[in-house]
Amino acid sequence: MKTLLRGGAVVSMDPVVGELARGDVLIEDGVIVEVGEYVDAPDAEVIDATDRIVMPGFVDNHRHSWQTAFRGVGADWTFPEWAVAMHGTVKPHYRPEDVYVGTRLGRLEALHSGVTTMLDWYHVAQSHEHEDAAVAALRDAPGRSIFCLGAGWGTPNPVEADIRRVRSELSGDGLVTMAFGLRGAEDTGTDMVAQELKLAAELDLRTSLHVASDGTQRPVADLHEYGLLRDTTTYVHANGISDDELRMLADAGASLSISPDVELKMGFGSPMTGRALAAGLRPTLSIDDVPSVGGDMFSTMRTAFAVQRGLDGGLRSRDLLEFATVDAARSCGLDSRTGSITPGKDADLILLRTDDLTVFPVTDPVATIVSAGHPGLVDTVLVGGHVVKRDGVLLGVDLPALRNRLLESRNRIAAAAGVPLDTTWHPQPNR
Ligand SMILES: [Zn+2]
Repeated sequence: MKTLLRGGAVVSMDPVVGELARGDVLIEDGVIVEVGEYVDAPDAEVIDATDRIVMPGFVDNHRHSWQTAFRGVGADWTFPEWAVAMHGTVKPHYRPEDVYVGTRLGRLEALHSGVTTMLDWYHVAQSHEHEDAAVAALRDAPGRSIFCLGAGWGTPNPVEADIRRVRSELSGDGLVTMAFGLRGAEDTGTDMVAQELKLAAELDLRTSLHVASDGTQRPVADLHEYGLLRDTTTYVHANGISDDELRMLADAGASLSISPDVELKMGFGSPMTGRALAAGLRPTLSIDDVPSVGGDMFSTMRTAFAVQRGLDGGLRSRDLLEFATVDAARSCGLDSRTGSITPGKDADLILLRTDDLTVFPVTDPVATIVSAGHPGLVDTVLVGGHVVKRDGVLLGVDLPALRNRLLESRNRIAAAAGVPLDTTWHPQPNR
């Protein structure tokens, strides 16, 4: 089966393909086979891309989508307030159905705003049923997803059996794959980190790890001392770590995931974008927590861009788009499949409206996407060549029914946890 995206402004994020003011993209059996100014394919189904930018879908390599039912309620929270509210107060009341519907609508929301690849960093609850519900939700949303299992999160217990169990269910290379969310040396000690990395290597799993420092800790240097830095690990946040630690990450070939909105609003400190680049480390971008911040990559890129410009005048708009596509795909080990419009890669593509008055006229597509882009422009989304959103509408999903399920989930959890769903909910971290 062939599909031709005809007559769009192509932003490929591939240095060889480059940008085409008017171009065609030919897809065959889900794979990009040809990109050019004019591609002849009389037997292809045509999608008219006139007045559209055609670009690779965004890659978000760190989002905890189980929290979707509480979207927006934590806009004013600090990190300690978020932790006591989400982990301490509502999480114990999550049932598998709550994980399912939160994760599924969270994944659909990401697709809706053009995130074709998403790593779902799971740290909600520890029963097998909860984990299976999250995996089922990702499988029931037509995106490319990575289930990052943060098994045993918040405890020092061994998690090997849990990781092996889920790995045996996610052993293929389909749209939903698996990663291993490490708890970190502060929680489990370096011996456990070493054991977990050994297990990850045996099971061919990439790993992800939250780190940060208030200036007194050296979490990356500590791992380095024990030989525990890997080129298959994505370090999340890393605010406050020193420049020599950034260079250790760069030397190890590790990845860095920056969540600029959460980091700034919750008090982690400045995003490490500019300092990472100076240390030879290519950053990527992620959403993190939707109770506190929006879930789309446009605003995330814009925050990261504005902050770095404010700090030192650094970054160009193209950098941001690379962080959010091809660089993030590399951090997920998926750069041979996604992240750019490159012949041979899977067709994970989005079409953005250029005739919308919020961006019209589009003279430089990359500059427009980064400076003024928003989810309302996302007209069409393809994952593996399969159209999952068309004319601004997600296909094949009963959204009214899912919305009702999410509201029921939110209301039940809030009632069980005894929290008000309004501005009177003030988490008390010190109690
Ligand atoms: Zn996180």
